[in-house]
Order: sequence, then C-alpha cells, then structure tokens
Amino acid sequence: MKRIVFILSAVCFNVLLLAAQPKKGGSQGSDIDKKVDDLIAKMTLEEKVGQMTEVTSDVVSTTTNGAHQIDAAKIKEAILKYHVGSILNVSGQAYTREHWYEVVSAIQAEAAKDRLKIPVIYGIDAIHGVTYTAGSTLFPHEIAIAATFNRDIAYKAGEITAYETRASYIPWNYSPVLDLGKSPLWPRIYETFGEDPYLIKTMGTSIIKGYQGNDVGDKYHVAACMKHYLGYGYPVSGKDRTPAWIPDRYMREYFLPPFIEAVKAGARTIMINSGEINGVPIHGSKYMLTDVLRGELHFDGIAVSDWRDIEYLHDRHHIAATQKEAVMIAVNAGIDMSMVPYEYSFYNYLIELVREGKVSMARVNEAVHRILKVKYQLGLFERPVGNPNDYPKFGSDEFRQVSVQAATEAITLLKNNNNILPLKKNIKVLVTGPTANTMRSLDGGWSYNWQGDQADKFAADKNTILEAIQQKIGKGNVSYEPGATFDSLKNVNDAVKAAKNADVIVLCLGELSYTENVGNIDDLNLPWAQTQLAMELAKTGKPVILVLAEGRPRIVTQAESQSAATVMTYLAGNEGGDALASILFGDANPSGRLPVTYPKYPNSLNNYYRKNLENGNSDDSHSYNPLYEFGFGLSYTSFGYSNLHLSKPNLKENETLTVTVDVKNTGTVEGKESVLLYTSQMYASIAPDTKRLRAYDKINLKPGESKTVTFKITAKDLAFVNDISKTVTEAGEFKIQIGDQTQSFNFISNTVPSRTGRL
Ligand code: BGC
Repeated sequence: MKRIVFILSAVCFNVLLLAAQPKKGGSQGSDIDKKVDDLIAKMTLEEKVGQMTEVTSDVVSTTTNGAHQIDAAKIKEAILKYHVGSILNVSGQAYTREHWYEVVSAIQAEAAKDRLKIPVIYGIDAIHGVTYTAGSTLFPHEIAIAATFNRDIAYKAGEITAYETRASYIPWNYSPVLDLGKSPLWPRIYETFGEDPYLIKTMGTSIIKGYQGNDVGDKYHVAACMKHYLGYGYPVSGKDRTPAWIPDRYMREYFLPPFIEAVKAGARTIMINSGEINGVPIHGSKYMLTDVLRGELHFDGIAVSDWRDIEYLHDRHHIAATQKEAVMIAVNAGIDMSMVPYEYSFYNYLIELVREGKVSMARVNEAVHRILKVKYQLGLFERPVGNPNDYPKFGSDEFRQVSVQAATEAITLLKNNNNILPLKKNIKVLVTGPTANTMRSLDGGWSYNWQGDQADKFAADKNTILEAIQQKIGKGNVSYEPGATFDSLKNVNDAVKAAKNADVIVLCLGELSYTENVGNIDDLNLPWAQTQLAMELAKTGKPVILVLAEGRPRIVTQAESQSAATVMTYLAGNEGGDALASILFGDANPSGRLPVTYPKYPNSLNNYYRKNLENGNSDDSHSYNPLYEFGFGLSYTSFGYSNLHLSKPNLKENETLTVTVDVKNTGTVEGKESVLLYTSQMYASIAPDTKRLRAYDKINLKPGESKTVTFKITAKDLAFVNDISKTVTEAGEFKIQIGDQTQSFNFISNTVPSRTGRL
C-alpha cells in the first residue's frame, strides 16, 4: 500500500516539480556559472554545507522482510534538516527499474520541498553496466575491456551503460577506474584497464566519451567519475587501502597520465584515493587535491571523497587528532563533497569550522559552485527524475550483442598446442572445476550487489560456462563434475572417472567474486586444491583445456604446465559463458591480448615496462620472466608483419613521424589482430624502460588479406618524467617495435639536446 502511495505522489510531484523549475537553455550553457552564483548568493551556510554532504541509501531507507523503501521520516530529516546534496548506493541488492523510479522520485520530491528546491545528485557504481539494476546489460569488467584493445568497445559499453543508468533515473556514475593495475595482488585489478598507462588513458577517455556524450545533460548521458585519484593501485602490501610508497616522478610517469587525459576529455567528477602515499593520505593532501589537480590539471569538476575517507584521516591514518580536525584538513585540502556516508557529523563539524574561521566561506563557496554546476550541467534542475518511457532499449538484445562482442574480443587464448582448439562439436566433453557453473566467476564483484554474490540469482537466465557449452554441443555430449570447490577438493574421483569417458576436459579454474578488501589475498598462487584437481585430471591422459575465470592473474604455473590449451576469460560478464563456448567450438576466433603481465612465480611480479638490468640487453629473465607477457594472445589464424617503414630517419620537435606496417592474415580463417607499437629509448638521463606501448589499433583480416596500418608519433609520445619531475623528450636514438619488426630513428631537439634534470 505504502509503495502505491509513493508512486502516485512521486508522479504527481514530478509534474509539479517540472512546472516549478525555471527553464534554462541547454545543459552546457555559458550562463550556468551565473545561475550558480545567483543560487549560492541565496544560500545559508547550512544549505551550502548540505550540498557538500553525501549519504548512503541506507540512511534514508527502511528494509522490512527484504522490501526496501525510502523512509518518509528519514528522507525528510536528510533533506529538510541537513539539506543533503547527494545520495549514493543501493540498499542490499539490485532494484528493478520500477523501484529505482520510486526511490529517486521520492528523494527528488523531498528535495523540491526544501526552500531552494535544489535537486539531489544520485551516484552509483555502474562500473560494468548498471550493476545495481535488475535486467541491465552487464559488460565484462574493465580488465577485460582493456584486453579487447578496441577503443570502440569501451566507447559503446560506456554509451550503453550511460543509457541504462539514466534509465534507472541516476545521472552520476562512479566510473571509470583509472588506477594503474600494476600489482597482481591487489584485489581491484579487475576494475582497472591493466598495467599500461597508455592503454588506461586511451580506454579511459573512450569510456568517458561514451558516458558523457556531447551533452552530459541529455537524457542518455551521465557524469563520469574518474577514480581513484591518485596512486591507489600500488599498495606496498598488495592489500586494498594500505599504504603505498610512490616517488613523485613515478606518480607523474605512470599514474597521473590517465587522469590528465580524462580531465581533457571533460570528465565532470573525480573520486579520491582512500590510501596514503609516502605517509600522506590523499584526502588530506593539498598538494595532490589543489596544487596538482586544480593548478596543473585545471580540473573544475567535483572532487568527492571515497567511502568514509574523511573519518579515516582520524581513525585510520591518524593525521587528525579528532573527527572535526579531519573535516578541516580534508576540506581545506580540496575535497568538495564528503561520501560520509552514514551520519551527519561532517555537516555539523563543517558548519562549526566555518563559524570559527578554520575553513573559509570562499572554500565552501568554491566546492558548492562545482557541485551545483554539475547539477545544472546534468539537467537535474529541469529533469530531476527521468521519464520511464524514454528507455525502450534498456536490457535489449541490441545492447546484449555489444556485451557479447566485448566478451568475445576480450577472451584471450594463451596456449593452443597442436591447434587442439577449436574443438569439434561432435565430441564428448567433461566440464569440471569451481568456476564452471557459477555466474559469480564471470560477473565478479560489483554485480547486483557489492560482492557479486547474488549473480546466480539475478543472472539466472544467462549461461554459465557449463550451460553455454551444453547449449553449444548438446547436453548429451557434456558431463559435469565440479571436482573441487575454490579451495578444497570435492569428489575428485568422480571427475577423474568422468574424464575417462570424455574426449576432452574443459577445466575451469579461477576465483569466486569479491570486491575491495574482501578480495585481499596472502598468496598469489591459486588455492592448492585447484592445482591438485588439475594434476589428477592430467594423469588421465585426456587433453585438458584450461579456462581461467578470474579477476587477477593468479599463479597457475603447475596446473598450466599440464594443459593442452589455456584460455583466459578475466571477468567477461553476463555473456562471457556464451562467448567462451563460441571460441572453444570455433564459432568465434579469439583476439584478446593480455592487458597485464601474467606472472609465473610469486616472487617475480615485474611489469612489462621493467628496467632492463641484464648485460647487453639480451637476457633480462631475472627482471622479467612471466608465464605470458603483457600484450600476448593467440588466434586461430596467423598474422605476418612486414615492411615496417618510418617516414624519416630523424624526428624533430613539432614534426610527426609516420609509421606504417603491413599486416597479413597468413592463415585460413578470418581474424582480428591488435597491432601494438612500442618504443624504446636507447639512452636517457633516467634509466629508460625496456619498452613502452605508444599506439595500437585493431584490424580485421580475411584469410590472405593484408592491410597497411598507420601510426603517427610525435615528440610528446616519447616523453618521460625526469628526475626533477619535468616531462621531457630527450634527444637520442629510439627503437620502434611492431610485431617482429623493428626500426630505429633519432629524435633531434634544440631545446632538450641531451641528458636533462640533475645529471
Ligand atoms: C569504493 C569506490 C566506490 C564507493 C561507492 C568505495 O568503497 O572504493 O570505488 O565508488 O565505495 O560505492
């Protein structure tokens, strides 16, 4: 009953609200700053600080016997007493679109009762599709999107996610993650675009353009939130939210560039790293939040804290003696909005601090200006709640096909002895292993709820790996024995027995879903039981196709040594099972490439852009000896590279070097090839990285077909950060590598003739 009342009142209220709001021309109009200033001039201190306060959905909700609803008294308190500017998250698990409509309508209706009728900005982690809306299109996670090496896929996934987020009446998406996925131990690797700064920045800007479109205020686009600024992805311990040691030079060389590009691409908001770097928590760092972010990057959008992170300046980092001091430090450092998220002490402390002169009104006005500006740009004043009828494509087959394409282009073939793959469809297959029959190992965390543990319920209509194989070759040809759970053997003898009647074993190992610190591990090795299962099955002599469904590259060296073929699915999303089955049985040709180094040993975790410390550049196996290198991935066809050509032997400042290479499909089936261009600088004032990815493209070739791929390189692409933290391109010799082709050229500079910096 209560729900019906809510819907009706929300609908009526929406109509009233629309009539009450002033019209304005275009969400990006140059008059926005003026409107914001006029509004700020009318605001009390309390109303301003309210705008800077973000609470989680639970603060304004009640859930009884699993039924969630916005609580009338709590939302009244949040809006009318505390003037809360933003609400985030889901209570419990994914809602239907209809329920999101009730929730957001109820919130905006309350906001319209407040004196200045400022709409609330609702934020959500729609990080691989609208994770918290039932029936949405779930894509592969960022790590898998990166493996496609196809920017169009990132763009389209962003565009569809934006559409479906607005279809859920939400205008603000806490995505993309632009962190450097440098340590395979870190549980958030799967949320990143991998270990390479160039791949991250190109994928990141593509997805941001998809999210925000040309007009972030139209009904199909959302504000992106680049996160987590800065240096989150490389904690010393590998554990989430633990301290990092990152020199300023490395910060600028590897971690900062994706954020620089994302700001240029127009990302409207940014979320701050929960961790501390070199002992300085980023939430308290004026240097990072103001000097670099505003002064150098010229970012003018909202800087929102991460979850409870202002409180943690006191509780965890101990740089503030009290909670009130924590608020002072964070706001003065440059935080505009606090993801508080459970109560209102931030609001009370900040009001006191302004009255005491410890935080200036100018700083508060600056923060509120940024928040209100984004609200205007999003069209929230005109359209606080979307129209349910505007989103007929939500969860459509058209959208699903893009997710299928993404998963298909992501899945990476790492080994294919004697071309055992693709398999024939008339064979008997044993499917086994803990990741074989659960959507949790395809969707990972941030799926339907925080930990992704409801995926089998919400994605029941999607195919697990087992179901997809059954559908592909007929149930009669497939037997299934789990053989092991994620960390213990389970009727392994039944799996061994079943293997005897099969032609091939599809062994599915990997990880169960996890998110953030829940995914911390002490051992990068896959749990021993999974290796044991692999070893027992290998003894049967039947060929093993090893499928790795996992969020980070767990060490599988022993198990993998027994496989005839190895396929990495990452977290390929709702269509991952079907995409994998198409690849295994030859209906699709794999084209994914590793966006991270796949380590072989737990104590050898270097990234591909390592320093080469061996003599003569010939053997660097002590510094880099992975199971599979970054950028590696096989196909069912073969590609030949030839004619690597540089337009000139010497590149000067302000010139462009045109690089061409011919790529031919030398095999017998059509296939896609990612063409990766690396450069190496021979000598520089900072020991140069062995090689760095500078450009890539993905092409499709029919058997026998060849294409010329063209790249443009300028001095900027060859730059690095020197020992006085300046970005320079030093004169000297460079090598270009594409496939098995290499060429050298010289960079000639008048301004940076030789070694720079302190040398
Ligand atoms: C995560 C963020 C996320 C936020 C809101 C935090 O714990 O670190 O990535 O956006 O929660 O859900």
